[in-house]
Amino acid sequence: MKRVLAALLLLLGLTGCAGRQASYTTDFFAMDTFMAVSVYGDSEDAAQEAAVACEQAVNALEPALSRTREDSDLYRLNHADGTVCEVSDDTYAAIEAAVQYAELTGGAFDPTMAPLTDLWGINTENAHVPAQTEIAEALTHVGYENIKLLGDNQVQLLNGAQLDLGGIGKGFATDAVFALLAQQPEGAATGALVQLGGNIGTFGENPSRDGGNWVVGIADPDNNAEFLATVEVRDASVVTSGDYERYFEQDGKRYHHIFDPETGYPADTGLRSVTVIDPNSTRADAMTTALFVMGLDDGLAFCAENDIAAVFITSDQQIYTTDAVDSICTYTFLGAEKGYTDAQ
Ligand code: ADP
Ligand code: MG
Repeated sequence: MKRVLAALLLLLGLTGCAGRQASYTTDFFAMDTFMAVSVYGDSEDAAQEAAVACEQAVNALEPALSRTREDSDLYRLNHADGTVCEVSDDTYAAIEAAVQYAELTGGAFDPTMAPLTDLWGINTENAHVPAQTEIAEALTHVGYENIKLLGDNQVQLLNGAQLDLGGIGKGFATDAVFALLAQQPEGAATGALVQLGGNIGTFGENPSRDGGNWVVGIADPDNNAEFLATVEVRDASVVTSGDYERYFEQDGKRYHHIFDPETGYPADTGLRSVTVIDPNSTRADAMTTALFVMGLDDGLAFCAENDIAAVFITSDQQIYTTDAVDSICTYTFLGAEKGYTDAQ
């Protein structure tokens, strides 16, 4: 399904003649999801070199951000029994960002959810609803205040805490790709569309559209190959968290992968998805996860206070956009035929 979505996004972004620009697209699988980077530039060789460098940069981040790979910094840290560990620059920067967003969101985003992700087994063959006693025990280890950032890449996890950076990993990788694209020689990467799973990054000019903006679709939660809205942007990322991305069903109920750190259950706030549009993809990624946990009312208030551009899709088929959306992109509602209301 993600592959179909990727293909459609490309079509939306790139229909028409690409003028004199050459382009190169690389497709790959990393961080447990499908990815594609399309680079536009003055020559195909330069575009290819830039696109391949982007792919390598994402792959190089995997050991810094994965907690399942036994050779990763996070695995070592999570199994250090509370002792101080030295981690790489990238891992330290990602943990620092995660803590910053945990503080900003009052813990709705919490990078210490690993014991719960493990317990629920989302995305494994062993996905199931755990016993309440197990959830209560796992929750005693959850809390971002258990993360001690000691400077000089030294980190300590107290109280049996374990890190899971799945909520910002793709955003962090998108920002690394943006930085790399900006460093390319003049003309090598005049524009790019970066798709790391549900994280879309738009960089520079889209040569196939007047005005050079990129058009990104916001998926229909019931059919993510179709869109309920589009946003037209440039030099920003468009990140979506939804209940349809990773989930299992038990006794007719859907259990997805975004957990409420207070209850230890998948956040059940009447939302189907939250999309955030932001130049900083790490921030956008943390915010989509946090806003999903906060729910519509608290989420809208948080966005107003922090000037966040967000689109909320509710299970009763309403779509809400925040004031900041209009200042960062052109938003077009397309959901009327499917019974959605543009609630504003
Ligand atoms: P996706 O990775 O599918 O794009 P998200 O960005 O919303 O979706 O991240 C969800 C992942 O983040 C989960 O798979 C889990 O690893 C982790 N996670 C779950 N709940 C939280 C939370 N409340 N705060 C931070 N991370 C979380
Ligand atoms: Mg996220």
